[in-house]
Amino acid sequence: MGIARAWWVWLMVVAVGALGSCRLCSSSSPTINNSSCLSWRLAVEANNARAWRTVPPNCHDYVGSYMTGGQYQRDLDMVVQQITAYITTEVQLSNTNNNYSAWILDVDDTCLSNVLYYRRKRFGCDPYDPTGFKSWAAKGASPAVPAIRTLFRKLVTTGFKVFLITGRDGDSLAHSTTQNLHTQGYTGYQRLFMRNSSYKGQSAVAFKSEIRKQLVDQGYKIWGNVGDQWSDLAGDCAGERTFKIPNPMYFVP
Ligand SMILES: [Mg+2]
Repeated sequence: MGIARAWWVWLMVVAVGALGSCRLCSSSSPTINNSSCLSWRLAVEANNARAWRTVPPNCHDYVGSYMTGGQYQRDLDMVVQQITAYITTEVQLSNTNNNYSAWILDVDDTCLSNVLYYRRKRFGCDPYDPTGFKSWAAKGASPAVPAIRTLFRKLVTTGFKVFLITGRDGDSLAHSTTQNLHTQGYTGYQRLFMRNSSYKGQSAVAFKSEIRKQLVDQGYKIWGNVGDQWSDLAGDCAGERTFKIPNPMYFVP
């Protein structure tokens, strides 16, 4: 009985220790500690949460950690891996008209990163500030999203015609945007489409659909379409495949 009791006590000590160490692990894990924020982010990325205006205040630390702590980069890498696999299998096997083989990329938080700006906006916990964002964009200082720049170069060197479509105002931001793209290594794209006066007031879906339809009418086949917003990927002529890259900081309708 003495040995059995000692064994039982030892077992309990080990079990309590294990539980304690699990708590220690979980206290440093944003995934477990912020499970409601993870659920919220998943709803955003799956397009189940729509028309939200700000990141929930309790998710400020979670979103900041996600965007700057490595997981965002890993998620981007995974999307680019999927795109690369798609190109090297399905696309190249059936691609017979290189001159009209197109890809569509969004600009903000797809080609260019605005994380530095949104850090000052508490990673989206603050409401959208159109004046502040325009000032930021006018500086032309957004760094590239490295994984997407790598993808962009692969697309261009493979022979695809890459079109960039952005909801940025063309009248006021054309120079800074083209300069920013150039300095960040985005050279060799076919054309940058910006929102001009004839598209003012249109939703992103309507504007981007119209541009894509123009390309299709010109004979282009859109093999893929990459954006951080569902409004980049919805609507007409969306492309053979669409690829949503993560962005839990803001929603563009
Ligand atoms: Mg965007």
